Amino acid sequence: MREEGRIDDVDLPLLQENAPPRVVCMTASLLDVDGESHILVYLRDVTAARLAQAAAVANEQALALANETLSRQLILHRMTESVAKVGHWAYYPGDAMVHLSPGYCEIGKLGNAQRAPVGDHLRGVLEEDKPTVKRALRQMDGEIVEYRWRRADGEILWIRSRMHREVQDGVVKANFGIVQDITAERAALRAAAEQLAAAKESEARFRSLTELSSDWYWEQDADFCFVRVDGDLGIVRMLPTETYLGRTRWDSGVGGVSAEQWAAHRATLEAHEVFHDFEMFRARQDGSAMWVSISGAPIFDSEGVFTGYRGTGREISARKQAEADIERLAFFDALTNLPNRRLLIDRLSQAVSASARHASFGALLFIDLDNFKVLNDTRGHHMGDELLKQVATRLTECVRNIDTVARLGGDEFVVMLEELSATELDAAALAESVGKKILAALNQHFVLGGQEHHSSPSIGVTLFFDHQQSVDELLQRADLAMYQSKAAGRNTLRFFDPVMQAAASARAALEIDLRHALLHQEFMLHYQPVVDETSAVTGVEALLRWNHPTRGLVPPGEFIPVAEQAGLIIPLGQWVLAAACAQLVAWNNSAVTRRLTMAVNVSARQFRHPDFTTQLLELLRVSGANPYRLKLELTESMLLSDFDDVIVKMGELRSIGVNFALDDFGTGYSSLSYLKRLPLDQLKIDQSFVRDVLTDPNDAAIARTILSLARSLDLSVVAEGVETAGQRDFLLQCGCKAFQGYFFGRPVPVEQLLLPVI
Ligand code: C2E
Ligand code: MG
Ligand code: MG
Repeated sequence: MREEGRIDDVDLPLLQENAPPRVVCMTASLLDVDGESHILVYLRDVTAARLAQAAAVANEQALALANETLSRQLILHRMTESVAKVGHWAYYPGDAMVHLSPGYCEIGKLGNAQRAPVGDHLRGVLEEDKPTVKRALRQMDGEIVEYRWRRADGEILWIRSRMHREVQDGVVKANFGIVQDITAERAALRAAAEQLAAAKESEARFRSLTELSSDWYWEQDADFCFVRVDGDLGIVRMLPTETYLGRTRWDSGVGGVSAEQWAAHRATLEAHEVFHDFEMFRARQDGSAMWVSISGAPIFDSEGVFTGYRGTGREISARKQAEADIERLAFFDALTNLPNRRLLIDRLSQAVSASARHASFGALLFIDLDNFKVLNDTRGHHMGDELLKQVATRLTECVRNIDTVARLGGDEFVVMLEELSATELDAAALAESVGKKILAALNQHFVLGGQEHHSSPSIGVTLFFDHQQSVDELLQRADLAMYQSKAAGRNTLRFFDPVMQAAASARAALEIDLRHALLHQEFMLHYQPVVDETSAVTGVEALLRWNHPTRGLVPPGEFIPVAEQAGLIIPLGQWVLAAACAQLVAWNNSAVTRRLTMAVNVSARQFRHPDFTTQLLELLRVSGANPYRLKLELTESMLLSDFDDVIVKMGELRSIGVNFALDDFGTGYSSLSYLKRLPLDQLKIDQSFVRDVLTDPNDAAIARTILSLARSLDLSVVAEGVETAGQRDFLLQCGCKAFQGYFFGRPVPVEQLLLPVI
């Protein structure tokens, strides 16, 4: 710790009274907090992880062992090895002790003990096996006995033993016995037996499968007429012989084969070639359809003259059924039975081609149910599902047979109208009338679980003709138009507007650029000083810059909103925090910079992410940055939803020293009630009030109010955007003690930062 300033990931045992021991992983770093040296220690309980690791290793070993057991090599090896494990004992009448050989001691794990009290061995014999051993001890006639024996360490061994009695002149001179550890041999035998049993079972399974096989055999004459079909099986029996004997395959009432397929099949037969898996179906006597697959080979007599065909047949109805099911699942929505996105896209591309052929416009209507989520949340998903089914039915009733109603998922439906009109205007009018019909139909109340429910849709419409746009683009246009109608207050219909599309395209391009930028490290942080009333720098605010290869430095206002929409703010924000922490760590090395605070802007979406706190804690732990120097700037928009969650998160981070400031204060919906409840440290007066603080009495009053409000809530205040001495002086007079703005310094790369010199 003294040398490096930190310790990383050291496992330590944690012993507690009345609880099993645990393992904690420690990371620690040396910090300066308000001029005093402190050690910041992070302890993570890693007991579960370490146990899991140990178990994984043990499991692997067990698995390896099991695999090996099956190899004959090992079985043999074990058997020979076990032969070596032999020992003996001797007992002389009159002696209280039994003499044990070194081999015996080794088997029994008795160390160097060469003697043991009489009866000691017998005690370890398992209860069930005791009679065998006792009988052998009585007879002492050299008979081989095998029994299980529990060693002192608890392990149960299989022992093979032989006992003898030496008698001279009717007097017992000695008793002795040989013991052999045959545990491994037994295990090997058992494994072999199990292997055998498994082999037997798989053979039996194979036999029963062959018995169940539905193959049958057929023969045809040189004119391809059936002369014989057998296979004493239900399938064949279910067909009356008249339907095929004396007839060709194509004359015997089979279906599922197109004219081209028949022609190809006949050509194969005429050419006397082998064929495989020709699929067709025929009706059984009971009328049900039976799919079969036929394979055949030509027959030639001894002179080489073609005499006919023979082959086998197999029923494949189950497979065909499965294929049909899969197709239904792949192309239709399971809940509503409407075509799904895939089928819609398929039909749409056909419709686009057809529109050119028929010289007529078609239309795409994107339909989204308003407030569907509320229904799901309040009355449960099954009610939501019920509504979707009823909507599907109503939509289908609103359109013609040639039109398509599809469900994209969730509460999104698409209606595709074909062959509307040759002119764009007429087509639009027709599409609009269908749209209005849908609006009216979906505005009728629904009955869900016996209760009335009102729902409404927002509809976006776009027209299509020829291949002017790709299918994806068309769907996107209809989707955009739908959003327009949502924006226009819902329960309405809007047409796609090209201007909207242009904006959307630019956004999409920027998003691609942003992803690229994240991968290629095109971001950097600039730092703007924050000063106190004597103009001394007390900290900085980190401001993100995008060093774009062609556009130069891009300010955050241009890309943060897009990053937020695209979800890129999560990795981007994480990068910013990591860079800021790294800077704090670097500053910690020098007395000049050790006390600087670092303010980092955090987006609402970033802060709301469930992993935000964990990731930041992890970052602080790994980097060793001083949390007391870190200040997170939140905006008021964050407080509009999940207020309680925000408070919990703030509290968690604050408990380890992280500070919080409310950015752009005064521009949002700040209400006193929540200001009081938030664990804040600071307010930042928005620059819009500071700008005109000398000329606009309103702004001056706002600035003054914020300052006195902050005083009463015990919060510090930073005035942002201070550009002139006049602004600074006025704010100073009103009691402001911290400032940030071009007057003191612009945001610059870290090397250009003018830092306090002691
Ligand atoms: P903000 O947090 O209110 O940052 C202050 C903005 O005011 C900065 O703009 C700064 O350059 C500018 N500024 C500072 N002093 C003056 C002055 O005297 N006069 C004027 N006219 N402007 C001044 P910037 O760097 O363009 O950042 C704009 C906003 O982007 C920030 O507003 C912040 O909300 C956001 N932002 C910046 N970096 C990040 C970031 O890493 N993450 C997130 N989520 N947002 C960021
Ligand atoms: Mg800020
Ligand atoms: Mg601000």
